[in-house]
Amino acid sequence: MSTSIHLLIFPYPAHGHMLALLDLIHQLSLRDFAITILVTPKNLPILTPLLNSHPHIQTLLLPFPSHPSISPGVENVKELGNAGNFPVMSALVKLFDPITHWFHSHPNPPVAIISDFFLGWTLDLARHLNVIRIAFFSVSALLPSVFDYCWNHFDEVKSSGVVELHGLPRSPIFKQEHLPSVFRRYKESDPDSEFVKDCLLKNTLSWGCVFNSFVDLEGDYLDYLKTKIGHDRVFAVGPLSLLGIESKSANDPKLIPNDFSLKWLDGCPDGSVLYVCFGSQKPLRSEQMEALASGLEVSGVRFLWVVKTGEGYGSIPEGFEERVSDRGLIVKGWAPQVSILNHKAVGGFLSHCGWNSVLEVIVSGVMILGWPMEADQFVNARLLVEDMGVAVRVCEGADSVPDSTELGRMISKSMNQCGEVKARAKELKEKALAGVESGGSSARDLEKLAEELKNLQGKSVLIN
Ligand code: UDP
Repeated sequence: MSTSIHLLIFPYPAHGHMLALLDLIHQLSLRDFAITILVTPKNLPILTPLLNSHPHIQTLLLPFPSHPSISPGVENVKELGNAGNFPVMSALVKLFDPITHWFHSHPNPPVAIISDFFLGWTLDLARHLNVIRIAFFSVSALLPSVFDYCWNHFDEVKSSGVVELHGLPRSPIFKQEHLPSVFRRYKESDPDSEFVKDCLLKNTLSWGCVFNSFVDLEGDYLDYLKTKIGHDRVFAVGPLSLLGIESKSANDPKLIPNDFSLKWLDGCPDGSVLYVCFGSQKPLRSEQMEALASGLEVSGVRFLWVVKTGEGYGSIPEGFEERVSDRGLIVKGWAPQVSILNHKAVGGFLSHCGWNSVLEVIVSGVMILGWPMEADQFVNARLLVEDMGVAVRVCEGADSVPDSTELGRMISKSMNQCGEVKARAKELKEKALAGVESGGSSARDLEKLAEELKNLQGKSVLIN
């Protein structure tokens, strides 16, 4: 290991959390930091492309700690769905002692821990080791302010059907059931819930916060957060998908077996295809699949629909694929989303509004047809529809079954009209691209972050 400034990076084992952090690691590695990534064995393959590009990056491979609600061998939220977050978060805290042991036996121990915002307990670890902790948010900058409001106005929020977040920019309003899942699942005095709440609160107490976001998307919310936490070490460095290594296991078409989605898109007119995908972990029930299939059929629009298969996932209605074969492609399993979104044939994205998908579609300049379901997706949809005007809502809720005629009508209208929304999506793309270019706001924040980290070496007392 070199004597460069050493950083320990601890991603959270869910695709939506990990991928953007890997892009950030790539950037830090280019800036000459010595990096160790903490990973459990089954998640190691996700790092392969990054490790191949940066052979100097080390891994700290620790076994996934056991938990009564997690079957042996399960190490990623992908296999558990959103409800798996509480047990996974609780299991990972058991790595406190093994990390401490590793740290004390290292010849050049890290000066900072950069960890996912679902690993807020690493602030205690960092304080114990006398290093700084930086929270990496694979979510919007609006989200921590929503959490902050919810915890601080707990009784009011829990007892209201509709919640207005006073004091936040533009005072966003949410239905109770659209608040982030982590908050909604919280049960007072339940140990897992209290632990998760504590973890989330520790993020803004950490030395710094890094967001996969950018000023032209969330400037007001970033400023609000800086004021709220009382310092400026809030870095918006996104969209990170523009800054990662080219070949990522999740997105590289060459690494996805038997994928012919891009070839199929080559044969479609520009802007004619609706891309449909609900992220890495959300199963649709059979009724939802039927309604969506029927909506796509009614719309008359070309589409590329990524259908996840496996336990808990509904199936594609019989005969559907054959009926729409002249204008629809169904990809079963995993699709190279970033490449698809950037294909000129794609003109719209029907999405659950997961944050990575949001940033990826912004970069492609395509309009979003939002179907927020859970987690932070309603918060993201609010940002896209009301604040930015780059999306329309076509359905809402994890269990909702849309009316297919209405859904078909909205799909058709969005793809064939909605010129203003499309124009704004294109403008936002330009702003996103400008942000990561030299001198842009995200590029500046990234340099500032690297600079601050370089200044840490040799400091005897590091304060979070
Ligand atoms: N993704 C992909 N192919 C798929 C499904 C998802 O490449 O078939 C990627 C997508 O590009 C994004 C991530 O997986 O980077 C999903 O993250 P997001 O935050 O959108 O949703 P989540 O899975 O966390 O709900």
